[in-house]
Amino acid sequence: GKVGTLARMLATTLAWALPDGSKIHSTKLTSSAELSPAATLASAKAIDNYTITVRRELHRIPELLYDLQRTSAYVREKLDELGIAYQYPVAKEGIVATIGSGKEPCVGLRADMDALPIHEEVECPFRSRTDGKMHACGHDAHTAMLLGAARLLQERFAAGQLHGTVKLLFQPAEEGGAGGLAMRLAGVLEDAPRIGRLFALHVWPGLPSGVVASRAGTIMAAAGFYHAEFVGHGGHAAMPHTTVDPFMCVAAALQGLQTVISRNLAPVEAGVVSTTFVHGGSAYNIIPGRVELGGTIRSLSKEGYRFLHEKVEAVLRGAAALGGCSVNATLSSIEEDCLTAAVTPPGAPGPCTFPPTANAEAGHTTVRRAAEALVGAESFVEVEPTMGGEDFAYLLAHRPGAMAFLGIGNRSLGTDVNLHNGRFQMDEGQLHLGAALHVELATRALAELTAGDAAGCAEGEAGPTCAEGTYLEAED
Ligand SMILES: [Zn+2]
Ligand SMILES: [Zn+2]
Repeated sequence: GKVGTLARMLATTLAWALPDGSKIHSTKLTSSAELSPAATLASAKAIDNYTITVRRELHRIPELLYDLQRTSAYVREKLDELGIAYQYPVAKEGIVATIGSGKEPCVGLRADMDALPIHEEVECPFRSRTDGKMHACGHDAHTAMLLGAARLLQERFAAGQLHGTVKLLFQPAEEGGAGGLAMRLAGVLEDAPRIGRLFALHVWPGLPSGVVASRAGTIMAAAGFYHAEFVGHGGHAAMPHTTVDPFMCVAAALQGLQTVISRNLAPVEAGVVSTTFVHGGSAYNIIPGRVELGGTIRSLSKEGYRFLHEKVEAVLRGAAALGGCSVNATLSSIEEDCLTAAVTPPGAPGPCTFPPTANAEAGHTTVRRAAEALVGAESFVEVEPTMGGEDFAYLLAHRPGAMAFLGIGNRSLGTDVNLHNGRFQMDEGQLHLGAALHVELATRALAELTAGDAAGCAEGEAGPTCAEGTYLEAED
């Protein structure tokens, strides 16, 4: 941190050499033309080597959840090179870097850093060095784009082109560890200067490369799990009448769970109940004593989630009763704080239920304007919500802002393979756009907060406009 501050002072007067051979120029350019979206895009393109190199180096060293020692050290090394001060540790291996005056207005930009327990099936020079772990959700790209943006924002602040503060939130444990909640509980939203607006990007293979997408209101779902152990009475398969077969209960549950959406939820409402595993039995001639089943529940609202939760639980209990089993059912609750949730069954999507990710109207408008300025109105998409979950929700529930998707789908490059797949690949040609979008979002949001934009909800207070579509928790 201290070294970083000193280096930042030096960087304002010197051209700072970076390991990739490029330099930070400290030329004092204050003309507004230098802040034009075209200039932002060009400067992001000019450091493409840097951003791509960072992404590849991170891709080689995937780490899981909160165990991000190498990843976090790498990011801190990059911040030191850039002369950017930071706070560490935050939520174990998380980092909060600060660029600018240290005064309000303050805009937060978030990147997640963790990888997945997936074996990488792509052969490339920078392939994962750890079998069974892979950056298959693009969080290496998120971190690289934010470091690229950090470099550009640092230049803008040094040149006196921006006023206020940008905080970079490098978050651990997005993939099921509620790292976003851990960051919030560590105080990242309350520490001075107080973040007034908050943004995050996610690379998106389902959208064509070059497209930016977002929406006002809920963009990603509340996501939780159910797990049931049906206990019967095992025995010889040749004498089934002497057993209580737990498979009969599982069969009833599988069928019954299918009716939760199709026969309970209004047809125009969105919801998911997907059974994702059944475990039980080991021999041709034994009826097992117990069989397990589990899956995920998704909804776009907390109310919707509560409804599905209740129906799924009723089906599990009903199925047990039908087959004469007893059932140990565990369902994650939307009311429960993830970090205190006691149970994490194997294969559960997370230790608890992620809330819906809801974009504030004001945050969405900033994203739309920034994207249209960078890629043109024809390449900005008002996207339908996805039933995927995202723990940025924990931060976004407390500050107006938005999550946006960056299209990376390009069939000829093979980058249209979905997230969480061993053959997922990044269209690195889009990294500069992600970095530019971060810079543009920060620049615009700082200006909006300074101007006290009517829909701006300065100081993080949610006004009537901002509250719409967000899920503000009572304790904040
Ligand atoms: Zn993911
Ligand atoms: Zn992700």
